[in-house]
Amino acid sequence: MSLIERAEFTSAESLRAHQDAAWAAQRDHVARRSAFYSDLWQGADPPADLRDLPRLPLSDKAQLRRSQADHPPLGNYMAAPRRDAVRLHRTSGTTGQAMNLALSVRDCAVTEAVGGRCQSAAGLTPDDTVVHCLNYQMWMGGLTDHMTLQATGAMVVPFGVGATERLVRTIQEVGITAISCTPSYPAVLERVIAEKFPGLSPHDLGLRLGLFGGEAGLDDPAFRARIRGMWGMEPRNANYGVSDVFCNFAAQCEHDTRLHFMAADVLWPELIAPETGAPLPLEAGQTGELVLTHLVRDCQPLVRFRSGDIIAVDATEPCTCGRTGFRFRVVGRSDDMVVVRGLNLFPSMVAAVLNEFGALSGDYRITLDRPPPYDALPVTAELARGQDATDGLVEAVAAGIKAKLGATARVSLVPHGTFPVTEGKTKRVQRTYQ
Ligand SMILES: [Zn+2]
Repeated sequence: MSLIERAEFTSAESLRAHQDAAWAAQRDHVARRSAFYSDLWQGADPPADLRDLPRLPLSDKAQLRRSQADHPPLGNYMAAPRRDAVRLHRTSGTTGQAMNLALSVRDCAVTEAVGGRCQSAAGLTPDDTVVHCLNYQMWMGGLTDHMTLQATGAMVVPFGVGATERLVRTIQEVGITAISCTPSYPAVLERVIAEKFPGLSPHDLGLRLGLFGGEAGLDDPAFRARIRGMWGMEPRNANYGVSDVFCNFAAQCEHDTRLHFMAADVLWPELIAPETGAPLPLEAGQTGELVLTHLVRDCQPLVRFRSGDIIAVDATEPCTCGRTGFRFRVVGRSDDMVVVRGLNLFPSMVAAVLNEFGALSGDYRITLDRPPPYDALPVTAELARGQDATDGLVEAVAAGIKAKLGATARVSLVPHGTFPVTEGKTKRVQRTYQ
């Protein structure tokens, strides 16, 4: 096994010898067995010192997609013999191509132990009975998240999705204390309870802990307050991961809602400037794209892999809870970032401004019709149902964006219903140039 007991409570200095030893073995494994990285590095040896990793080129999701298309099903970054893989996950492939993720026995054990650290930090204990309500069909959120819940010592009920009436009865009949689901799922349950269980309130179910992950909105204080009020349970961000790299390696604790990095013994994090790829120091106050290197991975090891997530590092000293990993927030996706006169802007920041205008529906697009640089942000905002564009609204929205974000905006308004209603994630930033 290649994990350190309680690594999340271990100081950076004490972890260092372990990290160096893990990397010595891993770099040898990757250099000898990964055709993908041999090609990318053009025969150069990976550095012996982890701190010299920035000498190597970055790798990214588009490269992995090509690798799996050219070398199906696992890609030529599969670095272990096929017979060593014991679990295969598939991503949903909403962007076109499903990705295949293979894990060895050791990969599974490491994934489950680190995910278990996250669920424990979020408050799950061996005294809890937790129901896991994510889809078990192929993706990591099902079986593998289930195993991370079990790694805490809690008793786990494998429920999956659907059959909500049966779920409500199960919660009542077996004394369930915690639920693991998406942040939008409690609202679904509330509707079922109101329709099918007259006289019952969500509060009556006796859940004490909601373990969430996988969707934005969790950081919204209004969401947290609503969950506490309606259910009497404490909402916790228990699950942050990067598909293709690691299922779950960061979570909040009871003292601090920011994500704590929990995988220092098996994952090496870096920060880069998303536009240039230049390394940034991983220290408090820095914002950049998270780049990850496996220190322990048999099947599909990745080195300097761009997560696509822009994170803000808030603290690097140990938390009140005793965990030593740096604490951070995810502020957006790198492909959604628009740089306007040196300001890094994300759709979520624009949304926060637009939501202050009752005459707007809240839906919008940022349409970029030519390559950067940009000196203004083009925002097309939709009017609320039954609203007409009033005099001065365009100017007021532009002034709001200038005041809150510091950027000049070119605002236009469109009637309600202009933008199609899409299932799942809506792409707010649209690039129409070639
Ligand atoms: Zn903490």
